Amino acid sequence: MKITHHIEDKMCYYVSSETGRAEGYYVDLLANGGAGHCGCVNFGVVHFPKIKAGTRSYCKHILLCRNYFLDSLLTHLSNKERQH
Ligand SMILES: [Zn+2]
Repeated sequence: MKITHHIEDKMCYYVSSETGRAEGYYVDLLANGGAGHCGCVNFGVVHFPKIKAGTRSYCKHILLCRNYFLDSLLTHLSNKERQH
């Protein structure tokens, strides 16, 4: 499971399937008020109902993308910090 595409200027990613059962999943981190949305079955069955009920809940694909985003943001901030 890894990020194969990052759509620039949008917080959207394609994540390859771990099992190879699906081609991959489209993840939009800004959907659902920032809780995110994923095309996997697990998200639809387990996490989306919780989000609708007001609790943030993430599938592994969304967690991977959130971590990827945080990592690139922290790298960027760290590089800026070193310039001062
Ligand atoms: Zn997912």
